[in-house]
Amino acid sequence: MATTLITNIGSLVTNDPELGAGPLGLLRDAALVLDGDRIVWVGAAASAPDADNRHDAEGRAVQPGFVDSHSHLVFAGDRTAEFDARMSGQAYQAGGIRTTVAATRAASEQQLAANAGRLVGEAARQGTTTIEIKSGYGLTVADEERALRIASAFTAETTYLGAHIVAPEYAEDPAGYVDLVTGPMLDACAPHARWVDVFCERGAFDGDQARAILTAGKAKGLIPRVHANQLGHGPGVQLAVELGAASADHCTHLTDADVDALAAGDTVATLLPGAEFSTRAVYPDARRLLAAGARVALSTDCNPGSSFTTSMPFCIALAVRDMGMTPDEALYAATAGGARALRRSDVGVLRPGARADVVELDAPSHVHLAYRPGVPLVRAVWRAGVAV
Ligand SMILES: [Zn+2]
Repeated sequence: MATTLITNIGSLVTNDPELGAGPLGLLRDAALVLDGDRIVWVGAAASAPDADNRHDAEGRAVQPGFVDSHSHLVFAGDRTAEFDARMSGQAYQAGGIRTTVAATRAASEQQLAANAGRLVGEAARQGTTTIEIKSGYGLTVADEERALRIASAFTAETTYLGAHIVAPEYAEDPAGYVDLVTGPMLDACAPHARWVDVFCERGAFDGDQARAILTAGKAKGLIPRVHANQLGHGPGVQLAVELGAASADHCTHLTDADVDALAAGDTVATLLPGAEFSTRAVYPDARRLLAAGARVALSTDCNPGSSFTTSMPFCIALAVRDMGMTPDEALYAATAGGARALRRSDVGVLRPGARADVVELDAPSHVHLAYRPGVPLVRAVWRAGVAV
């Protein structure tokens, strides 16, 4: 296996405090060596070992690849008009998800795979090297199973979200839909999923329904994560912590008790500022969560309705500008934070033994991700040691 030396790194974020300064483990004038799909050496450029190939970073910043722990990439259809109307002052119309469900069911497997692949590629070119993908636009046994099979071709981090909304056919019988989601649909989907998720919100699934769905998923070996407290206060966050969910996602409307529960538990608070941006909603208060000691991740929530971006740098800029995060905190949340939300220790960090997921920025510092919003700063990406 060929080794690659990346050297002359002006500023290297390792996310390992034992390797460098502060929580980001920052090193100046650094180098690292990749061997196959792994990092094998990190340290000062002056003492770097030889390697088969050499990449000169010419003083630029290098960091771990982004870990996007929340996305909905298996879908068909277009909702441009809905976004246009919303930004033109028309009130938000519920039922947008149903539009995507109808288009997704009507699409071929090839069309869905091609669209997901295009978006995964778009994310990779912006530095995302690990991505979680949910089902949730099929809402039948066959369509949810199909979505997870498609997602599995792109990532190991697949999430069963049959409980995105109540399927239209069950509008008059939500209890019947919960039976389907916890029964035959779960049986068909569990072999293709690592995680189980539920949209716990008024108009979607209440606390009791969410508990039943997550508990059934756990019994099949899936690990819970929860869409919680996005549109208003509710039981989602407390339920996530109680059931040992890896992550509570959105966390926009939190009581003090919710914040305390997140700070005391193992559940990561995953913030998705693209959703607030695209719906002109109030942003979650990251400062409050960090001050309480909660672990925070940043993710895109990429989906065609409420957050159609694959850009982690954009989410970092929003988090710094509008959610009270420092540039260091936002970068950490978008890399190591996402890894924690996916219970991964091999990504989101650059240390010997970690996966060789490396991003070079066309900038002297990672701070430029927030300082220069909207600018394509990702210059080079290695995913598992392979140049993207
Ligand atoms: Zn989502």
